[in-house]
Amino acid sequence: MRYTEGQGWHDAEIKKYEDFKVSPAATVFHYGQEVFEGLKAYRQVNGDIALFRAKDNFRRLNNSAKRLAMPQIDEEFAHRALRELVKIEQDWVPHEKGTSLYIRPNYMGMDPFIGVSAAKEYVFYIMTGPVGAYYAHGLAPVRILIEKEYVRAAKGGMGFAKTAGNYAASLIAGVEAHEKGCDQVLWLDAEERKYVEEVGSMNMMFVIDGKLVTPDLDGSILPGITRASVIAIARDMGITVEERRISIDEVIETAKSGAMSEAFGTGTAAVVSPVGEFVYGDETVTVSGGKMGKLALEFYDILTGIQYGEIKDRFGWTEKI
Ligand code: PMP
Repeated sequence: MRYTEGQGWHDAEIKKYEDFKVSPAATVFHYGQEVFEGLKAYRQVNGDIALFRAKDNFRRLNNSAKRLAMPQIDEEFAHRALRELVKIEQDWVPHEKGTSLYIRPNYMGMDPFIGVSAAKEYVFYIMTGPVGAYYAHGLAPVRILIEKEYVRAAKGGMGFAKTAGNYAASLIAGVEAHEKGCDQVLWLDAEERKYVEEVGSMNMMFVIDGKLVTPDLDGSILPGITRASVIAIARDMGITVEERRISIDEVIETAKSGAMSEAFGTGTAAVVSPVGEFVYGDETVTVSGGKMGKLALEFYDILTGIQYGEIKDRFGWTEKI
């Protein structure tokens, strides 16, 4: 659907995937006025199709849009449109556990105007595509580079928004991490380069002295929906959850002393991804003997159990199509 200032949203339609025309002067190309989302539809064990916390994705999209000076979308309408789309695409929702239909809502400024200002014309669309199991070789622990030089987001910036610019800023560190044999980058805060923020496409969690510790939502990290789900599951299990600042020194020290029993990332794509090693400068620090932690595995099993309909969803997170 499209938005035009003075007219509001119009021309909503569902159609076959195809290219569309964009002016070379469009705001999105020059100033990155763009926000997006990522969520999934799951084929449950009884054959039903379920969305997971889709309304939370549209809420977050609007929070991101506000930061990028973009008009709000009608969340209710977008949600209904998504349900219609998934119904049409139902044969594309794969059957094997671990697979899903990935859903990418995308929203961008289209004004053919080369001036630094918010666009007056926008396009919002949702595309989908089946994705395979994220863990082709099982739930293997990843090796993470702690980034010392570059930062991803600063206070007052766009860190909490899901917008292209944040990912553009992170690409160079990703290239360097791969050169060092690492799978992901762990970002530190921009001001002091001292506190843990998040990983490329995941929020970070640590199990320290039996408590689940995760960086608080301070405006510079994405409020992950998987993060919120794991916190709710942990509290439900009676585990103490601390949302607070966690310094990289604390991470390294507790990992070395063994007080940290597990570290893992959470995200829609990876669900729960255990960390086996942190690379910090010349040092490599191993967590939980480089193996998959017990709690990470439990969170993975409960989350995917709910998503694939193997476990009763007591949280009300899934909705059938
Ligand atoms: N942080 C970043 C930067 C991300 O791109 C993602 C993936 N959307 C996450 C965290 C995890 O968020 P979610 O659990 O909502 O997928």
